[in-house]
Amino acid sequence: MAEKTRQVILSGRSVIDMTLGEPDFPTPKHICDAAVTAIANQETKYTPINGTIALREAISRKFKRDNGLEFGLGEISVACGGKQVLYQAFLATLRPGDEVVMPTPYWASYADMVTLHAGVLKPITTRVEDGFLLQPEALEAALTERTKWVVLNSPSNPSGAAYTGAQLKALTDVIENSPHRNFWILADDIYEHILFDGMTFATVAQVAPKLRERTLTANGVSKAYSMTGWRVGFAGGPKPLIDAMTKLQMQVNSHTSSISQAAAAAALDGPHDFVRDRCAHFQARRDLLLTRFAENPSLVCPRPQGAFYLFPSVAALLGRQTPEGETLVDDVAFSNYLLTQGVAVVPGSGFGMSGHVRLSYATSEVKLEQAADRIKVAVELLL
Ligand code: PLP
Repeated sequence: MAEKTRQVILSGRSVIDMTLGEPDFPTPKHICDAAVTAIANQETKYTPINGTIALREAISRKFKRDNGLEFGLGEISVACGGKQVLYQAFLATLRPGDEVVMPTPYWASYADMVTLHAGVLKPITTRVEDGFLLQPEALEAALTERTKWVVLNSPSNPSGAAYTGAQLKALTDVIENSPHRNFWILADDIYEHILFDGMTFATVAQVAPKLRERTLTANGVSKAYSMTGWRVGFAGGPKPLIDAMTKLQMQVNSHTSSISQAAAAAALDGPHDFVRDRCAHFQARRDLLLTRFAENPSLVCPRPQGAFYLFPSVAALLGRQTPEGETLVDDVAFSNYLLTQGVAVVPGSGFGMSGHVRLSYATSEVKLEQAADRIKVAVELLL
């Protein structure tokens, strides 16, 4: 969709791009300055595969400070974005036929990574009425002797759903009590700092210390610190898993840039006021869009608790006709139609849930108002 959007923009049409999965804010100056200093200090050579000592120390401090988790330097992996961390975790562990359980809607890359490694995706469809939160009984029913991973992502891309500590504990209780124990748990916490309405962040290994030896707690600097292009992701987890991931990384790309690692350490150790300010902006943007969508009963959208996405149902609009006479057969057709009306969104089917679209609100309030106007008109034009 992002590529299609680029083409339409190149053709000279005005499009408000709501496909983006990155904050629109700049990387803060103190982080950029740390990178400049690293260059001046000739920190320009190979680093350890699993990251510089300075960065892993900063990550260890971060886990302790934010999550109450203790990870030694040998229990930390650093890679070229959270994406590489997750890719290597699956590569290191999945055998053909292994099942990977995850709530739907899910981040599209999980599904592709699992498939690439001959794993079997076991999606659990969540419900709009439950705010897209996985329910304990549904998790229990999905676990089998073939389960190799359970993937939990809170706040979620694409739904923005986030679990309270109690809700997460209900899920980890299921895992702890399951007769099936031969699997890992992935806690993808990359949106940890973009959490709304005063909600407190919780992660698996924190609420269920007994699961610590089976949990990979993944995170990164891309979203909280607006550092998507710097490519630094990290994870804390059991040493055997981290070692296996590091061994694979050695033959892939060795490590991420030494300069980016210095910048990431500065981000993790540095001031966090701007992170909270930006989160408040995201919350205000969420509220702006939800208020505007409330005028439009055909877009059904639970209130996301974090990240910077809305995932409304467009089911009520499917089957209707565009002014050009095309029937909107599915979320892809709806997204294509919306693009002709000047708003780019991503079809929900890519996230394992058709009949929905994902809108990113990592863009200015002015553009969001314009997008809401255009969506309103686009819906009104349908026959
Ligand atoms: N996990 C989720 C849920 C994401 O949405 C993303 C990025 O969009 C990532 C992980 C990986 O981000 P990065 O590779 O930039 O660290």
